[in-house]
Amino acid sequence: MIKPYIVGNWKMNLDAAEGTELAGKILHASIDYDSVDVGVAPAFPILYSVKQTVASSKGRLAVVAQNVSAEEKGAFTGESSISMLKSVGVTAVIIGHSERRQIFGETDQTINKKVRLTLSYGLNVILCVGETLFEREADSHFETVTAQVAKGLKDVPVDKIEQVTVAYEPVWAIGTGVNASPADAQAMHAKIREMLKSLYGPVMANKLRIIYGGSVKPDNAKGLMNQPDINGALVGGASLKSEDFLGIINFSK
Ligand code: PEP
Repeated sequence: MIKPYIVGNWKMNLDAAEGTELAGKILHASIDYDSVDVGVAPAFPILYSVKQTVASSKGRLAVVAQNVSAEEKGAFTGESSISMLKSVGVTAVIIGHSERRQIFGETDQTINKKVRLTLSYGLNVILCVGETLFEREADSHFETVTAQVAKGLKDVPVDKIEQVTVAYEPVWAIGTGVNASPADAQAMHAKIREMLKSLYGPVMANKLRIIYGGSVKPDNAKGLMNQPDINGALVGGASLKSEDFLGIINFSK
C-alpha cells in the first residue's frame, strides 16, 4: 500500500498574513500523519514564514516550493536557486506545472534539468505532466503524457527515483471545476506506472506515488483516491480554504 500524498498548490495567492494563518489552521487540525503525507506550496516570498509557522510539526507538514531555477547560482535576476530553497527548509519542489509550461514556456529539457538539480540537492520532486484538451480530443493524450514523464525523468538514476512523485494534471481540468473522471484518471495513472516500470522496473515503479491534480474537491476526492493507481492529490483552488483542504486530506485515508 502506497501512503497517499496530498499537496496544496497555493499558486500566486495568499500573502504572508493569509498564508501563515492557513498554515496554522492545517498545523492544528487533526491529521493522521501515519496514514497520509501532506504538503503546502506557498509562493516564494512566504516560504520562510510558513516554514516557521509549521516548525512544530517537525517536517510532517512539508513546505514545498512551486518552482526552482534550472541554474545553481549567478546572474539570473528574479530566480531562486535550489540551495536557497533548501536553506529555508523547503523539502520538495513542484516542477513542470502546466502554468509554467504554457505561460512561461518551460520545455521538457528545462524541466528535466530542474528535476536532476533538485534531486542532486536531496530534495523531493513533484513532476507535473498532463495533456491539453486538444491533445485529449485528438486521442494523443497517452502519448503526450508518457513522453513528458520519460523526458522529465531522463538520466534520473534509480537510486534517486524514490524522491520523485509524478502528478498527472490534465490541463483542461486545472482550475475549471471539471475533474477527470476517476476511470479516465486511473487509465492515465496506469499508463504512467507502466512507463515507470519500463524505466525503473516493476518493484520500484510499484512504490512510486502518482498523484492526480485538476479540480479536486472534498466531494470528488474519494472517488478519485479509491482508484488503485491514484496515490494522492495536487490541489489548487480547494487548498486555499482549510475546510476544503482538510476534507480532501480526510478522504485520502
Ligand atoms: C493545480 O494548479 O495544480 C491544480 C490542480 O489546480 P485546481 O485544483 O484549482 O484545479
